[in-house]
Amino acid sequence: MFVTEQTRDTTTTTTGSAFRPVLQQALRYALDHLENLDRAPVSPMATLDELRARLDRPVTDAGVEAATVINDLVADARDGIIGSASGRFFGWVIGGSVPAALGAEWLVSAWDQNAAIHACGPAVAVIEEIAGKWLKDLLRLPPTAAFAFTTGSQLAHVTGLAAARHALLARRVWDVERQGLAGSPRIRIVSGHQRHGSIERAVRLLGLGSDSVVDLPTDAQGRLAPDTLAAAFRDRSDALTIVILQAGDLNIGAFDPFTDLIPLAHQNGAWVHVDGAFGLWVNASQTYRHLLEGVELADSWVVDGHKWLNVPYDSGYAFVADPRTLRDAVSHRTSYTAFVEGARDPIDWNPEWSRRARGVATYAAIRQLGRQGIADLIDRTCHHAQALVRRIGALPGAEVVWKPTINQGLVRFLSRGADATSADHDNRTDEVIGHILKAGEAFFGGVTWQGMRCMRVSVCNWQTSDEDVDRAVTAVDIALRR
Ligand SMILES: *Cc1c(COP(=O)(O)O)cnc(C)c1O
Repeated sequence: MFVTEQTRDTTTTTTGSAFRPVLQQALRYALDHLENLDRAPVSPMATLDELRARLDRPVTDAGVEAATVINDLVADARDGIIGSASGRFFGWVIGGSVPAALGAEWLVSAWDQNAAIHACGPAVAVIEEIAGKWLKDLLRLPPTAAFAFTTGSQLAHVTGLAAARHALLARRVWDVERQGLAGSPRIRIVSGHQRHGSIERAVRLLGLGSDSVVDLPTDAQGRLAPDTLAAAFRDRSDALTIVILQAGDLNIGAFDPFTDLIPLAHQNGAWVHVDGAFGLWVNASQTYRHLLEGVELADSWVVDGHKWLNVPYDSGYAFVADPRTLRDAVSHRTSYTAFVEGARDPIDWNPEWSRRARGVATYAAIRQLGRQGIADLIDRTCHHAQALVRRIGALPGAEVVWKPTINQGLVRFLSRGADATSADHDNRTDEVIGHILKAGEAFFGGVTWQGMRCMRVSVCNWQTSDEDVDRAVTAVDIALRR
């Protein structure tokens, strides 16, 4: 009797203890990382060779104890984890994670549901269904639009443009899913030339070919002018066309004039796809939503959760106004999938089979922040970006190149010589960025914009405070004095 009891106890504790010490240890390390962000350098301090030498441990025959794996991982990765979760990280367009989203993300890993179909993850399928509805509401998109939770905007572009490809070819009685593209009518893609590189890659993956992309010039504000688009239709009024519009570009946060462009594109039979990877979020703010007026008239939209909503990485969204086109393009069914009447099965909308329930973190972030919290996040980060550009631009040897409309701006650094050339200013800009990164107090990236080297300022993190802005300006000031 005693032995049986003991055996049962041991079994229970064994199952429990297999996870508990390891997860508790991981929790401690995670908190050490997050709670130390204010003091730690934001730039990587370990070299490539150091990281390889530490991490390339032999794969043993017997394996390694779980606790040791976690200990070693943290020790080996040290100084190679950049401070992108910190409030002083202004490189690329990178957000942090709000606590509820990070906590939800951990639960998703623990639950380990396959979110392909409702039947193998009922609760997570419903959570995604609700999160999709909330997103359409917050982003002011049509409530009837279909959606997919993707890995990021890159795959959201593939998803939205797969629906576009389906719909345009169906008009010429061409079933692209069945017949493929060989011998099909050509589709051309028309957009302003400042588009993000992920669009080109989506076009390549969909077999439309990057030669099908027609570059149109943009105006001084980075916008596609209605006359320019009208001319593109005059040239080729018969072509099947996808017009790709920009809602917030990477460098200056430019927004195309949707109210004029979308009806014009539709009059010419085009499909309109909007890249709003971060910019579509300004629809959640009363201060900035005028920039997006008319955007809801488009046919498909792309947004990220992992940038401005501050959901951990692996979070993008595709929305398609006509649900049938997305479903026809990506849905997949087999005899062994089980379907629950009336349920939403992600496999009908996502170009994936087995997948993590990545919509759960979005659900949690929206609940934590609420409508006002999201609006405040947008307004606050825009305000910080504007302050950073203004104050850095006012330092001796610096210059404002683009004053942010939203959360993206550009500055550059000038060579001191009286006969300095633009190449000298370019070199000086890269040199100052290098000094800033080396000191590790703030992180900014370089970019070539209109032929000029610039330092990009992007603020997307809920944690950025006035104090972080002060510290970043001081760090730039110190770098400029070197
Ligand atoms: C970041 C970004 C993308 C690509 O998004 P991922 O989530 O990195 O795939 C596309 N367009 C714009 C405007 C972006 O800022």
